[in-house]
Amino acid sequence: MINYIKFLENITRLINSDKPLDGIEENIKAEFSLFGELEKLHIFLLDNNTKVLRDCFTDMKPLQEIYEDETAVEYNNMIDEFWFNDFIINQKAYKLPQNIEEIGIKIKSLALPIYKGDDICGVIEIIFKSETQIMLSFLHVMKIFSSIIALKIQNTVLDEKMHTNVEFYDSMKSIAKIIETQYELTYIIPLIGEMLDRFIEDHLIYIFLRHDDKFDLLWPKSCNDERAKVLMQQLDSESTYLLSDDGKLGAFAMTTENNLLGCIIAKSLSERLKPREIDYLEQLTKQASITINRANSYSEVLQYATLDALTGLNNRRQLEVRLKQETSQAERQKHPLSVIMLDIDFFKSFNDTYGHAVGDLVLKEVADTVKKTLRESDIPARYGGEEICALLPFTDLEQARQVAERVRQGIEEHEVPVMIDEKEHVLKITVSIGAAQYTPGSKPEELYIKADEALYQAKRNGRNRVEINENV
Ligand code: GH3
Ligand code: MG
Ligand code: MG
Repeated sequence: MINYIKFLENITRLINSDKPLDGIEENIKAEFSLFGELEKLHIFLLDNNTKVLRDCFTDMKPLQEIYEDETAVEYNNMIDEFWFNDFIINQKAYKLPQNIEEIGIKIKSLALPIYKGDDICGVIEIIFKSETQIMLSFLHVMKIFSSIIALKIQNTVLDEKMHTNVEFYDSMKSIAKIIETQYELTYIIPLIGEMLDRFIEDHLIYIFLRHDDKFDLLWPKSCNDERAKVLMQQLDSESTYLLSDDGKLGAFAMTTENNLLGCIIAKSLSERLKPREIDYLEQLTKQASITINRANSYSEVLQYATLDALTGLNNRRQLEVRLKQETSQAERQKHPLSVIMLDIDFFKSFNDTYGHAVGDLVLKEVADTVKKTLRESDIPARYGGEEICALLPFTDLEQARQVAERVRQGIEEHEVPVMIDEKEHVLKITVSIGAAQYTPGSKPEELYIKADEALYQAKRNGRNRVEINENV
């Protein structure tokens, strides 16, 4: 299967680098070779003054100069088509997923819009050398590709407009960085919330997402302000923001592609919201919308993935599949099966002290050490945030304890150097591990519960240690 996640990771990293788009044209094209050989890749941006599409890769040359024939006219008409459709494939318009089958289609050319909020601000054109078979997930991946480009364009514009306010600009960029390899909304939303909170002083911030026409509070844990709820009910997909009568409460609409995704509420504790603050909140809300939309598209793609993008370990879903297989095999062949459950000690302090990128690095290093220490037949997986679980077939409890101890030691001894403010820091990482053995006849999930109990014991007994659950 094509590794879409790897493609997205590489593309995101490329595009989020400090290089301008026209400096990375060849690199982007090279990443596409995963799907087929490209004849052309164009990223056209709409010039708002003249309503002409211009090519990012050729110094903003107008489309008419690139396509001298009627193709140029077709392209400008295409923008209208995109109000109702998601893609133009081989010159025909499609809406995702209604009229595209999972089994895939053969394509030669593909065009899709780039959105800035609700407006189309450009078009991506991809032409393959020959007809190429693609799957539905490829189209989802292309939607994400388009949103990554949108984020880049947004940041480039901000770069010019906001360079006077370095701090604000850095905050904007930090959102983009954090989410490079993250797509879990439960993880992303609190980050956005905390960042807004830090940035917009003297205000309370709330983030709501819309499900089935209802707004659900995602961050923080509670909101008792009835006025906020009334205000956001008045938002629609055309809104940017609404202010309360006294000007102290603002509801900023998160929208993409004519959908109202949710809203950010800012509540001033003292004065009315100032124009400058409103401007910031509008920009940040736009950024948050792109991010959330991308996370949503990611989850579509992830239906097909078996590996976790950050650590390269099996993901949770795949672990469930393997757990069922391994328990039934252990049952049939009467061999022991154990599990170890690992949790990084004081992980939050890595995030808090050095930032989330370093937190992510720590996770990756721990995952690598686990992988290296285990046998080929073991099945390591990312169980949750900073928890790693491994199924150990043909392994009894005592052997599992020894494996866990080797992993624990390996991580303790593994030094991770990081550069912070041009100074090298060596991170000391420790983990606590719980081990348990499968009881034939019991529910597969009980294995996690038993390992978790042992892990909890290891934490209570002082961390950086292994405990086993003796109930076999
Ligand atoms: P303990 O020793 O008790 O386990 O302490 P801890 O700080 O590790 O425990 P806690 O569970 O409170 O913290 C886990 C943190 O991990 C909270 C969450 O923000 C962070 N986290 C979860 N997933 C990720 C991720 O993918 N990347 C980063 N950088 N942080 C993550
Ligand atoms: Mg934890
Ligand atoms: Mg932890």
